[in-house]
Amino acid sequence: MHEFSLATSLLDLVRANCPDNEVLESITIEAGPMRGIEPQAMQWAWEAATNDTDLHGVKFELIQQPWTLHCPNCQTTFEADDMFTDCDCGCSRTSPVDCDNLRLVRLTVKDHANELV
Ligand SMILES: [Zn+2]
Repeated sequence: MHEFSLATSLLDLVRANCPDNEVLESITIEAGPMRGIEPQAMQWAWEAATNDTDLHGVKFELIQQPWTLHCPNCQTTFEADDMFTDCDCGCSRTSPVDCDNLRLVRLTVKDHANELV
């Protein structure tokens, strides 16, 4: 269950990024498909990790990115539903690019959203 250790490290990240004296409402995470995150398990892990902490009740939102594949034949980079998608040129030796991202994209605090880059 790697989602749980992920949730624990997210907690630290959220704490480091949350402005002092602000009440957190929700966080948004963007994850690449290579992370293999199961949304349901991630939701559960987040609730378990925040239980009994000051972040209890903070909503967790997960944005799953599609696969980004690169074709060595025609040098195209395209998005696909799975990593074994052939390129339009017929090439099947495509390889994933930047598919193991994990980013904290947004912290929402009470009354206003705080966009992070
Ligand atoms: Zn191609």
